[in-house]
Amino acid sequence: MSEFSLIYQHFQHATKKHTNTTLGIGDDCAVSGVPADSELVSCVDTLVMGRHFPIGTSAYAIGFKAVAVNLSDLASMGATPYAILLGISLPSELANDDFLAELVRGVGDVCEQFGVELIGGDTTGSSVLTLSVTALGFVPKGQAIKRAGANIDDVVCVSGDIGLASVALQAVLQGKNTPLQSALDLPQPQVALGQALRGFASSMIDISDGLGQDLGHILTASQVGAVIELDKIPTHDELNQLSFEQKYQHIINGGDDYQLLFTISPDNLTHFQNKHPNLPIYPIGRIVAGDTLTLCYQDEQVMMNIQGWQHF
Ligand code: ADP
Ligand code: MG
Repeated sequence: MSEFSLIYQHFQHATKKHTNTTLGIGDDCAVSGVPADSELVSCVDTLVMGRHFPIGTSAYAIGFKAVAVNLSDLASMGATPYAILLGISLPSELANDDFLAELVRGVGDVCEQFGVELIGGDTTGSSVLTLSVTALGFVPKGQAIKRAGANIDDVVCVSGDIGLASVALQAVLQGKNTPLQSALDLPQPQVALGQALRGFASSMIDISDGLGQDLGHILTASQVGAVIELDKIPTHDELNQLSFEQKYQHIINGGDDYQLLFTISPDNLTHFQNKHPNLPIYPIGRIVAGDTLTLCYQDEQVMMNIQGWQHF
């Protein structure tokens, strides 16, 4: 069986058909309808074995995470996910039924969870396993939430626990078991919250490279500064076993959190919380004039280098 027919067999029925799809997998291109008064929102993220996920990560987790991180990017714009295209560069030792079935199960589960269809992709041989996912979504015209837009006195919020994946990655690289493994392997994109924040949040990003660095992107794009209260950042009890320094290194300079980080005016925050009492929102600071990010702990300023994820 050729490599391609093997892949095709696995991916053909990986996900349910979406109502917007006129033509899915099997032709030269997919053909899709765009809902009236909507804009197409698109992104691509590439995951390389040994670089974006540790060697030894399960095939299921690789498939799940490659899709989830892209849905997180759509969530950060307030978009409703629609479909993905999946580029696979596959070493010959992984071109077998067991590996592909598990990879497809991971892709299929996260697509099922968020009503997303796999509408196409490309497959090639390679020395290093690489997955490149293109994700497509929709927003009502003009309503995408950008990095630019934060205003002075806005509240800075996150959608959930920060630092867990970074702690888990450190454990995995040291060959240890960790109760935080699923935070690293199976990130949960905050799709419902992202959509609900349309019309409320003034700016938004998802935390992939570290809270400090990703907040830096909002501040630069919005030309403002921020004061963050470290003691207000939600995290997992597991991090309380670490020293103060280690704990906040993971929280500020870790990464792979895939929580949303957004700014919202105090009035909108109150309205939003009344309208959506069950959606997770944790205020962690506020936007100030200037271009500086100040970190405080119990009202005392804390000095820390903000590095985040270094790509090269
Ligand atoms: P082409 O030569 O026109 O690029 P391919 O042989 O690469 O066509 O792909 C044939 C069909 O299978 C296309 O519809 C393509 O989208 C789909 N396909 C190929 N690889 C994948 C994949 N990894 N995931 C999903 N669909 C795929
Ligand atoms: Mg092709």
